[in-house]
Amino acid sequence: MKNISVLGSTGSIGKQTLDVIRAKGNRLKAYALCADSNAALLAEQANEFMPKVVGIANGEKYSELKEKLSYSPEIIVGKNAACDCGGLDEVDLVINAVSGVAGFEAIALARWKRKLIASANKESLIYLKSILTNPQPLIHWPCGDLAILPIDSEQSAIFQLIEGDPDIENNMLDRNKIESIILTASGGPFYNMPIEKMCDITVEDALKHPTWNMGKKITIDSATLFNKGLEILEAACLFGLKHDKIEVVIHPQSVVHSMVRFTDGNVKALMSVPDMRGAIQYALTYPRRRRRIIDRLDFSNLNLSFSAPDCEKFPAIRLAYDALREGRILPIVYTAANEAAVELFVKNQTGFLDISKRVEYAMNKTYTCKSMTIDAIMNIDRLARIYATEWRDSV
Ligand code: NDP
Ligand code: MG
Repeated sequence: MKNISVLGSTGSIGKQTLDVIRAKGNRLKAYALCADSNAALLAEQANEFMPKVVGIANGEKYSELKEKLSYSPEIIVGKNAACDCGGLDEVDLVINAVSGVAGFEAIALARWKRKLIASANKESLIYLKSILTNPQPLIHWPCGDLAILPIDSEQSAIFQLIEGDPDIENNMLDRNKIESIILTASGGPFYNMPIEKMCDITVEDALKHPTWNMGKKITIDSATLFNKGLEILEAACLFGLKHDKIEVVIHPQSVVHSMVRFTDGNVKALMSVPDMRGAIQYALTYPRRRRRIIDRLDFSNLNLSFSAPDCEKFPAIRLAYDALREGRILPIVYTAANEAAVELFVKNQTGFLDISKRVEYAMNKTYTCKSMTIDAIMNIDRLARIYATEWRDSV
């Protein structure tokens, strides 16, 4: 039995993680569940899965949670709830399904405690990589043991495609037989919209994703293509890749989750129906494959298309490559400035097209940082958010 701590259990990935645990209950145990504010759903989940520990970050929700629980688990309250739930001694696998940078400290602590982490959250992987002095890919401990299992479907695909390949030592991709990895992107709801019309995009429009049903932040990021930009940075961190080894291709059907281009000309692709529970199950049951809970991929009438991304209309991709070329401070600035700009957009305080302008503005500022400690990168994060927020159309 694997003891699992689900950080962000009430969100889109968290709920789907619990679907997998429900289906594979003879092998997987929800040992701890943690959320921010949704006490009602957290209590409902706890009453079903009976975890030993329940964490809630928003202290004001404690009484509601306590009142709705039908048993007496240990309850952890306050902003460190995710850190504490991820660091529990009895936990074998920590699922990072918290949204945004909020997941960072919890996985930094879980890693420090040498826990195996399965992360859907890309922002916190980018931050985690920046504080590590060892140049190894994030996916492995320096000794070669697995440290992180990717849940993000693209990274899970890359991992599944290279895992066990005798030519790839420790998944160190660019030292071996890999020409590049190819991340697929759905393109989001506005991919074919003329740029002149894109300034009228409302929050409501942007929250309707054609393929995936996800949390607010990642849905907006999918519409701007910042999600793919973050995945470029995430892939670089996880697999130890330079910017010239990462390609992006638009693939609206989201059936091919990503590809690996080998130097001998062969390209491997990983396919399944677009359902995150496929990647989540792979991480939860790793290293074994267990019977699917997702639908079978039907090839009887399947048309797949691929095209190059439009980096003029969607600057998020170009800016991500710029951040990766610098590779030290700019990945943090890119991530933090985007999060701040998305917060303004969802509050109707900035336009859709201004999100990338705010990020570019923050990236063009000067940051000083001698060594990449947690305090130092959180200071860069704070400054980048201030710059992204202060941007005005005239600057
Ligand atoms: P959601 O917004 O749906 O869920 C976020 C979860 O995090 C909620 O449970 C929320 O609790 C919890 N949370 C937020 N802040 C804290 C905190 N400080 N402490 C503890 N819990 C907290 O997001 P998604 O599930 O869509 O995404 C989660 C992550 O996975 C993101 O980083 C995203 O990029 C990534 N991802 C998501 C995919 C998807 O299909 N959804 C696909 C690939 C990656 P509450 O409900 O109480 O607010
Ligand atoms: Mg993804």
